[in-house]
Amino acid sequence: MARRSRQVARALDAMAMPLSARVATLAWNGYRHLELYFGVSGSGRVLHTINPRLHPDQIAWIANHADDQVLCFDLSFLPLVQAVHGKCQTIRHYVALCDRDALPQDSAIPGLISYEQWVQEQSDDYRWPQFDENAASSMCYTSGTTGHPKAVMYSHRSTLLHAYGAALPDSMAISARDVILPVVPMFHVNAWGIPYAAALTGAALVFPGPLLDGKSVYQLIEQERVTFAAGVPTVWQMLLDHVKGGGQQFSTLKRTVIGGSACPPAMIQAFREQYGVEVIHAWGMTETSPLGALCALKNKSLMQPEEEQIKLRCKQGRAMYGIDFKIVGDDAGELPWDGKTFGDLYVKGPWVVRDYFPGKDTAALVDGWFPTGDVATIDADGYLQITDRSKDVIKSGGEWISSIDIENIAMAHPAVQLAACIGVSHPKWDERPVIVVVLREQMTLAREELLQFYEGKIAKWQIPDDVIFVDAIPLGATGKMLKSKVRQMPEVAAYCAHGGSGS
Ligand code: ADP
Repeated sequence: MARRSRQVARALDAMAMPLSARVATLAWNGYRHLELYFGVSGSGRVLHTINPRLHPDQIAWIANHADDQVLCFDLSFLPLVQAVHGKCQTIRHYVALCDRDALPQDSAIPGLISYEQWVQEQSDDYRWPQFDENAASSMCYTSGTTGHPKAVMYSHRSTLLHAYGAALPDSMAISARDVILPVVPMFHVNAWGIPYAAALTGAALVFPGPLLDGKSVYQLIEQERVTFAAGVPTVWQMLLDHVKGGGQQFSTLKRTVIGGSACPPAMIQAFREQYGVEVIHAWGMTETSPLGALCALKNKSLMQPEEEQIKLRCKQGRAMYGIDFKIVGDDAGELPWDGKTFGDLYVKGPWVVRDYFPGKDTAALVDGWFPTGDVATIDADGYLQITDRSKDVIKSGGEWISSIDIENIAMAHPAVQLAACIGVSHPKWDERPVIVVVLREQMTLAREELLQFYEGKIAKWQIPDDVIFVDAIPLGATGKMLKSKVRQMPEVAAYCAHGGSGS
């Protein structure tokens, strides 16, 4: 990897790429992508990983905004590159991440070269340049569910500090004894810093490429003797379904980090109780590199009964060293850490964004703190619990209802595959929760049965008013449920238009 990363650095020199030039990727998790991570950033250029699941127009917008000079892409994205290259005004070089022989002859992409030819023409003798640690090393755009995506730049300093933090025992506990499978994509927030933390500790990396279905991921874990894996809940659900269906077990997997959206308690329990795999729940965002909190239990919590431990494991965890949290109320006053009072979560730390590119000041901050847009509680031991994104909070009769709590309960029902809780306007209560549900294949569940399932689990007034069954829930480019799109689904829109449960 080191040798070929040096060849990448030389290949960029041969193209006369200046320092800080942006080199973009449209690629799955793979070894060539990893070589680019180090060859591009190590030689002083900026690695710009683009999320291929974004709309083509958004990809072109991002490439132009970032002033990308080179685009390296997996051949599976050739149709996408063919669709957008005419709109990408700044890209001067296109590199296909493939062998010489695999390069398509009639791609219509000007000057397309294969990665292997590009790097193999270069010697691997290269001296890494010295530069300011505050220089940019990589960049990532937020998913941009509303408006244009925003660009977050990471520096060498922030990336290294974040990698140290990620590898700590109470974070991902990464060491040279690990074989790591990052299922979380290298095209979104640097696969949660795993490529750097693995290099820093000497852990082995295993790459899934485009094969993210449960069966392929399971086979890879077993075949490569993976000890640690990381991914978002939606992907892990496919893995669990596969393993459960086949009555299989994991022979080497010990821990998994799950984050990006709330990990349902049922998933944490299934991994722990049926498969002996520890789930580390993690919270973060593009603007925080992304890790901010991970849920490793404190010694005193390990003495508590299993039910209490599970409650803690479902929280998003304690702030990593270097990250500070505060929660504030409507009057901007700081709220207590009592595990009950919730407010807007603000963070600060050396790997938290200060301004969006191309800005260079601290415009993204409020008095030095970054407003996350999440609503959370923090308990006396510092465990953070995200209750909602501020725009998804449901307000019923002046009281707040956590849509994540409502979703988690539904997801614990064996017939439920996926659940999204939305607030529907109500003449008396202002808003009431309604749960939109996708059932598992060949399963049936009546509305009343699911509503009864809530009884005793939350206060009566928090139980959703209704259930809307749908075939699928729209997911965004990073595998998260898109609540705004859920509201636009015909079944849901029709329900809301009829006054929902209040009519
Ligand atoms: P986007 O670009 O959509 O903002 P990010 O990948 O930056 O995407 O996502 C950050 C957001 O994801 C957080 O602000 C939070 O709302 C949500 N999130 C991340 N991890 C968790 C988690 N463990 N539990 C609940 N929500 C989470």
